[in-house]
Amino acid sequence: MLAGTPIILLKEGTERAEGKDAQRDNIGAAYAVANSLRTTLGPRGMDKMMVGARGDVVITNDGATILKEMEIQHPAAKILVEVAKTQDLECGDGTKTAVILTGELLHRAEDLLDEKIHPTAITTGYQIAAEEALKVLTALGRPVRREDTEALRAIAMTSMISKGVAAQRETLGRLAVRAVLEVIEERDGKLRFDRKNIQMVKKQGGEVHDTELLEGRILEKEAVHPSMPRRVTPARIALVEAAFEVKKTEYSAEIRITSPDQLDAFRAEEERMLAAMAKAIVASGANVLVCEKGIEDSVAERLAKEGIYAVKQAKREDLEMLAKATGARIVVRAADLAPADVGRAERVEDRQIGEDHLTLITGCEHARSVSLLIRGGTEHVVTEVERCFTDALTTVGIALEDGYVLTGAGATAAELSLRIRTFAANVGGREQMAVLAFADAMDIIPATLAESAGMDKIDALIELRHQHAGGRTDVGVDVLAAKIAEMGAVAVEPIRVSRQAIEGAVAAATLLLRIDAVISAKRSGAGAAPPPGGGPGF
Ligand code: ADP
Ligand code: MG
Repeated sequence: MLAGTPIILLKEGTERAEGKDAQRDNIGAAYAVANSLRTTLGPRGMDKMMVGARGDVVITNDGATILKEMEIQHPAAKILVEVAKTQDLECGDGTKTAVILTGELLHRAEDLLDEKIHPTAITTGYQIAAEEALKVLTALGRPVRREDTEALRAIAMTSMISKGVAAQRETLGRLAVRAVLEVIEERDGKLRFDRKNIQMVKKQGGEVHDTELLEGRILEKEAVHPSMPRRVTPARIALVEAAFEVKKTEYSAEIRITSPDQLDAFRAEEERMLAAMAKAIVASGANVLVCEKGIEDSVAERLAKEGIYAVKQAKREDLEMLAKATGARIVVRAADLAPADVGRAERVEDRQIGEDHLTLITGCEHARSVSLLIRGGTEHVVTEVERCFTDALTTVGIALEDGYVLTGAGATAAELSLRIRTFAANVGGREQMAVLAFADAMDIIPATLAESAGMDKIDALIELRHQHAGGRTDVGVDVLAAKIAEMGAVAVEPIRVSRQAIEGAVAAATLLLRIDAVISAKRSGAGAAPPPGGGPGF
């Protein structure tokens, strides 16, 4: 008989939380994380200062960065980190919106659970609502094209509004739009944007408004010899991996030289080898050499005499990027170089930025590419500008790819809330409650924006509803002026940001609501940090 004998399915020490407990614990954790982000949303959003274990400090308002730096431990809360990551990857913006929405959907679900509504009815209802929401978004979308520079600039500026360098968003927005328009391509009748075609190089120093857009690619290296040309045009570029040095043996060897003749012969041989390397470059027809390793002085001198511009210790990714952009082939040694391996660009030149010299490669034969040379007083500033650009470039790019934009500032969320509430009447069963909860959850965006502006959240929502009921779909929260206003020209967002935020939030909420048991393996060392240096213990 089995009665009374427990059947052991789990390893000893495994913890198990079930049913309500598991669900409430997950919802609680996810909601706590999402809620902590609310104060950072929008133009008046506050920053978070994150202090790492080693005392390193990151100050930012970027949702994905904040969540990453939080080093969240709770498994359910980690799902929010995934929501933010996906949102960031797909859209470059709307990370906090997506996370806050997820939190709110879960929070509202908790009330429904209290009313004994089954989790399945809730998740089904949420999915029905999300489907309808996507249709509403499509209906609300306004077309945007390459020529609409004003709208594009508004998109870039909207994405930067809450960042630390918001004061410069006019300048940065302009640059971002120009950069996107330079590299966006039409393929099969569709616009395609690849952010990889825009290089970002940070150079601390100067001021943010010194940031510039350069046509071409930047190598953060200067020519190896002072008498090399400052500028080579047209450029024929050779890419070589191995060093232009006589190989030093890796073990110490003793070479016995017994007479001065032998020493001369030894040196002569070394010289001959170095000369052969330089000659191989000349013979290939190249006038620019980019080498992944070192270049010995005597070779540099020879190359300089031949009018060749050479750069040493280049990064592997630079070589690969140049290979793609100029059509060059990366060879291992100089001796392997054939004329067909040499790539082409219009111009290679030295650019002085502050104290430093950079190499600028323009007019690459195979790729339209531009570089943003980011300037700023401190490391924090240039890093924040880089984050801003990442968001602005992506949002402008995807807005053009999809061809549609929506109004931000809570306007679209308020419209969704209204239309989904009306739509709910057509949904039967318990699911209707969830559809209504979804509609209510949308209000969290305008409510949070209103709060951040110091407005009364209830009054703001009432006014918004009133305006939207009157058909004014672009009325939202003007956070900077602390009032409800027409925001269609000010807060402009690609349609994909809202789509992804809704899809991501519903998927994550569904995932968490479907869990009714959490089974955790026994933690070895009860949460102790892994030993420094890592690796398996002995
Ligand atoms: P996210 O990580 O979700 O992008 P942000 O802190 O960037 O978070 O805030 C985005 C919110 O701020 C969006 O709802 C957006 O529409 C809104 N917003 C952007 N510009 C304005 C503006 N000028 N006035 C009011 N709200 C704005
Ligand atoms: Mg944003």
